[in-house]
Amino acid sequence: MLPTARIALNRPLRRLFDYLVPEGLTLQPGQRVKIPFGRQQAIGLVVETEVEPPQGITLKPIHSALESWPALPKETFQLLSWASDYYQHPLGECLFTALPPALRRGRPAAEKSEDWWQACGSGAALPANAYKQKNLLEWIAQHEQGVKSSAVTKAGFTRAQLKALHQKELIRIAEPDVSLPGHQTYTDTVAAPELSPAQAEAMHQLPAPSDGFSASLLYGITGSGKTEIYLHYLKQHLTAKGQALVLVPEINLTPQTVARFKRYFGERILVWHSALNDSERLNAWLKIRNGEPVILIGTRSAVLLPFTSLETLIVDEEHDNSYKQGEGFRYSGRDVAVYRAHLNQCPVILGSATPSLESYHNALAGKYRLIKLEERAGNARPPAISLLDIRSRPLEGGLSRPALKALRQTLDSGNQALVFVNRRGYAPVMMCFDCGHMVECPRCDTRLTYHRRDRAMRCHHCDFQAPATDTCPKCKSDAFKPVGQGTERTEDILAAAFPDTPVVRVDRDSTQRKGSIQNILEQVNTGKPCILVGTQMLAKGHDFPNVTLVVVINADGGLFSVDFRAPEQLVQTLLQVSGRAGRGTKAGNVVVQTCHSDHPLLRTLCNGRYLDMADQLLEERESGQFPPFRAMAIFRAEADTMEQSLQILDSIKPLTHVPGIETWGPLPALIARRADRHRAQLVLNTDNRRRLNRLLTSICQTLEQKRFPKGAKWMIDVDPQET
Ligand code: ADP
Ligand code: ZN
Ligand code: ZN
Repeated sequence: MLPTARIALNRPLRRLFDYLVPEGLTLQPGQRVKIPFGRQQAIGLVVETEVEPPQGITLKPIHSALESWPALPKETFQLLSWASDYYQHPLGECLFTALPPALRRGRPAAEKSEDWWQACGSGAALPANAYKQKNLLEWIAQHEQGVKSSAVTKAGFTRAQLKALHQKELIRIAEPDVSLPGHQTYTDTVAAPELSPAQAEAMHQLPAPSDGFSASLLYGITGSGKTEIYLHYLKQHLTAKGQALVLVPEINLTPQTVARFKRYFGERILVWHSALNDSERLNAWLKIRNGEPVILIGTRSAVLLPFTSLETLIVDEEHDNSYKQGEGFRYSGRDVAVYRAHLNQCPVILGSATPSLESYHNALAGKYRLIKLEERAGNARPPAISLLDIRSRPLEGGLSRPALKALRQTLDSGNQALVFVNRRGYAPVMMCFDCGHMVECPRCDTRLTYHRRDRAMRCHHCDFQAPATDTCPKCKSDAFKPVGQGTERTEDILAAAFPDTPVVRVDRDSTQRKGSIQNILEQVNTGKPCILVGTQMLAKGHDFPNVTLVVVINADGGLFSVDFRAPEQLVQTLLQVSGRAGRGTKAGNVVVQTCHSDHPLLRTLCNGRYLDMADQLLEERESGQFPPFRAMAIFRAEADTMEQSLQILDSIKPLTHVPGIETWGPLPALIARRADRHRAQLVLNTDNRRRLNRLLTSICQTLEQKRFPKGAKWMIDVDPQET
């Protein structure tokens, strides 16, 4: 009798599949195998070996193993199994998330190195009209070491020309440079600047990797030099063979951070983010799996990679929402990082100027060590924040006179300013002042945003787009006007008010093209007077030493929202964007325009002390019985009609009637219709996380057996960010 192995597939199925292990094949959990599946072949991952074979079923044998070693080493495998259970997502899909796309498809786990070309013949042999090939040959000949295929196409030649030269034996494939791969040792390129006494004290309080598992919350105000502490920490503690992971919210927005790490650690720095192509992903994955002593700077999914000798994890801007995956395997990169540190018995450092209430609560409860850094690095001082009530003030494009005056003074004294608007586009609504019509998305329960630059009306929730019109589509009146502020509109107003000053817009639209954010940052880094106008993007970790004024157009968005997380997010965004002011040697000022200058939260904002606000917000969470005092999970349903969605959830609700579990709903989601899908949710809330987890497991098993109308879907979201 052949032994049996249990295999996970990359499918949304809450079950595993048993196969026979052919003679001569030994398997370990985490190994990639090729198996017959239906009429096709599929790639699977071994979950268990030597399982008891099921009775009365003839099993098929595994076709082959793709490698003799597990693609997912033990710890990574354990991590993903835990995450699958915690987030209630099918194990197969969780495990496959840790593989690069090439390996999911069954490609060999080997570095696909590019061909290097060297010239080995003379162009005299080419026909006279083949001048392109002749140019290419000459160009290759100029490079004694050879040139990469990608460099050839980058230089404006084609693959066809390359092939032609190769066929004529005028060029050849150069020997690969064997000195590159393998276990390199790295040396730091420059010495780190000395830490200030406050930084040194914070660093001193961080437990070392030799102390085993520890979780620290490094609360350091904006500009306090947290990044510098990470660098020093790694420099001091990382061994020559050790790997480290630095999670960041969005790499592309802050190329400065990567540059700073590279300056210290040179080639030891490796990056991981969504803009990498398949072969870059594979190569980075292999380095990590091979145990090369890299420091990986990566976005969310980097926490799932198969590290073999991880010694330290750092989660920068740990409060950032982008750490939570919003669809499919809905994990929180930050929380998985903490669990990973626990598995690895190594430290994790969560850093932020505005810690999430979850992490802060853990720190207060003694689970995390709280380390405070409450002064700015160098000679910089925290910015002065003031509220400007705009209830009875005339506004120009959303800007009040005092705000415009402050901008003028800033520019006149040779400094830079930043204006924060929370909406991209020109205006969030187009409205008819005759009939009151507002243009809505035909597919969602939202209004279309007017984008003036390309004369379009766009939905920010689905891909819908329509040409903009000058008259009301309903009554044809030409009293059809934009209402409210978007970044484009503010940009126009500022360009008109300050014709001699460059106005730079930073939002998703203006930074779409590759390299555009770099260009923008370069312009700001010249230090010459300019005004930056932008969304959230500007709040993220940038270090602009010459920005001395920040204007917040309107702070009121999150003050009265039904979402219990809205006030926390508002405060975090306002403090982060304020934190861009006065980071250099000059003092910074922040003007926050609001219609609610007496709101207690905004009043506390002015003292700039985030933890005071966090205490206040935590009290509200506790009295409302919300996370982090309770554990929460949401069943979401979407279907072609709201009725179907609610029906699914109605059928789930009775299953949740367990002591100690409270349910709210089912209710339509905040945006009930999105891209023509009708969405509803059922919220589960409890003080017993383990009981919730067990309940969810059993409900998910039940639901998996049920059939729902075509196109109807249910999903589970544990620790939801969006409610
Ligand atoms: P944070 O990550 O807390 O926002 P950074 O690490 O980016 O802060 O530091 C803010 C600014 O202060 C940067 O320009 C950095 O180069 C500078 N800085 C940090 N630490 C020091 C130090 N010890 N001496 C001088 N300048 C420092
Ligand atoms: Zn009208
Ligand atoms: Zn839409």
